[in-house]
Amino acid sequence: MEKLEMIYEGKAKKVFKTDDPKLFIVDYKDDATAFNGLKKGQIGGKGIVNNTMANIIFEMLEKRGIPTHLVKQLSERETLVKAVQILPLEVIIRNVSAGSFSKRYGVEEGILFKKPVLEFSYKNDDLGDPLINDDHILALELTTEEHLADVKKYAYEVNEALKEFFLERDLKLIDFKIEFGLHDGQVILADEISPDTCRLWDVNTNEKMDKDRFRRDLGNVEETYQEVFNRIKK
Ligand code: UDP
Repeated sequence: MEKLEMIYEGKAKKVFKTDDPKLFIVDYKDDATAFNGLKKGQIGGKGIVNNTMANIIFEMLEKRGIPTHLVKQLSERETLVKAVQILPLEVIIRNVSAGSFSKRYGVEEGILFKKPVLEFSYKNDDLGDPLINDDHILALELTTEEHLADVKKYAYEVNEALKEFFLERDLKLIDFKIEFGLHDGQVILADEISPDTCRLWDVNTNEKMDKDRFRRDLGNVEETYQEVFNRIKK
């Protein structure tokens, strides 16, 4: 399978058409951005880590009955995926307070919630990805009620699967962002799951093992991505 025309270039990935209209190839870059593109940099080897890690996780989720875009990994940085139309929603699940939740509501990081918090942002860079609720999503006709119900059901299931998966690797899943797309009219999990999109704290030391090391200039950014990768590969 060969890469044809590039149809999209995002902050961390490029997406290419193939000769099969139902398949795309994703190519992961080392570029990193934060704060809606205000902070830019590179994290050496990140593309390889994120590509491989996302695929290991998607395979695990498929086994649990959650449909994903994964077809097969083609190389260190490239994966063949089902072509989707991405729903313009960032689906965020939080198990512990951190990041924008702590900032917005004026609470410290590290508070364990009694149940997971599901949150949506409207994917729109010009507006700065504003927080929205179910009614806003339907009013803006970003998706249908049926597809929204699927998104929510899968998001909670992904959370349960990921919490367990990471805990087995001595990582606490604090929060994460996922994205869904439509393929043949069905909602499937797309985009990536990686240290770029999850907050992961070491279970023993609470050390941050994710993109916050880049966002907050905590140092050892590359080393941390590699360490997470080593724990995942086991
Ligand atoms: N997140 C992401 N992309 C975004 C915004 C957030 O992958 O554009 C992830 C982030 O890594 C974290 C979770 O979603 O795991 C919750 O992020 P939060 O809303 O706290 O925003 P942040 O503090 O990252 O701005």
